[in-house]
Amino acid sequence: MNKRIKIFAPATVANLSCGFDVLGCCLDTVGDEMVISLHEDPGVKITKIEGADLPLETHKNVAGVAVEALLKKYDQPPGVDIEIYKKIKAGSGIGSSAASSAGAVWAVNHLLGNPFSPQDLVAFAMEGEKLASGNAHADNVAPALLGGFTLVRSYTPLDVIKLYTPEDLMMTVIHPQIEVKTSDSRSVIKTNITLKDGIRQWGNVGGLVAGLYTEDYGLIGRSLEDVIIEPLRSILIPEFNAVKEAAMSKGALGCGISGSGPSIFALSKGTETANHVATAIREVYDTTGLAFDIHVSKINDQGVKIIDS
Ligand code: ADP
Repeated sequence: MNKRIKIFAPATVANLSCGFDVLGCCLDTVGDEMVISLHEDPGVKITKIEGADLPLETHKNVAGVAVEALLKKYDQPPGVDIEIYKKIKAGSGIGSSAASSAGAVWAVNHLLGNPFSPQDLVAFAMEGEKLASGNAHADNVAPALLGGFTLVRSYTPLDVIKLYTPEDLMMTVIHPQIEVKTSDSRSVIKTNITLKDGIRQWGNVGGLVAGLYTEDYGLIGRSLEDVIIEPLRSILIPEFNAVKEAAMSKGALGCGISGSGPSIFALSKGTETANHVATAIREVYDTTGLAFDIHVSKINDQGVKIIDS
């Protein structure tokens, strides 16, 4: 029964401007590492966490909660030990908790011989998201598990669709190291929207999906617009407008808030443009005196990856 695997658990960008709570995509160069092992003594244990100050108690760690949700549906559940090597900072807006939840359930499923479907794994990982944010959203765990771009067509019943990823799409992400309280980023959002804004937003979601499938980079760019959340949340992110202007002036297709922020993402066609965008964003943030990280990544079409087995 002793089985062990080391995996890469990717960071993800949720919402993608127009797709609040339904769209997301998976990154390739940013992510955590995890070692998962199965053994005969029952029970789920977080045995090690490096790189972040996160709870070791199983029921307080998203990885533990997600794995327990999976094992509840498995006859004769084995014992599971989880080691987490954190590279994605918690609260960054690039799916830190989602990487742990998705990585853990993916690895356990793999070691058990894949009894569960990707859709099942999304549902288990969502239990981890519920612990992290009080809300079982799938827009980070779905792309971490399925790879590429994903759409949550419906939450009840859960219907998650993997979309097509154009080859040349590149992501630039800046993570300003400031704390945006989840309560603040939630409280600025309104629970009602106007029909006019709804029409504009779902037109853009359709446009983005069509743009991905037809590899129409112009259409992707035109669709990366958010008239509902961005105007309210961007106020909490220093220099958001200046970053967006800098990214667009260097040829980014679009730029917006990653998840609930404070990270900002820009999508570009090709590595060269994505690197120019990174330089321009860096220049904006250098003037603020704030600490920040910048990542340039291609879209990871695979999701969680095995590093060592
Ligand atoms: P992000 O803004 O990057 O999406 P999250 O929404 O992932 O951030 O939230 C991180 C929250 O989840 C923190 O409060 C953190 O303490 C909690 N948490 C619990 N377990 C983990 C874990 N294994 N990895 C990351 N965050 C975790």
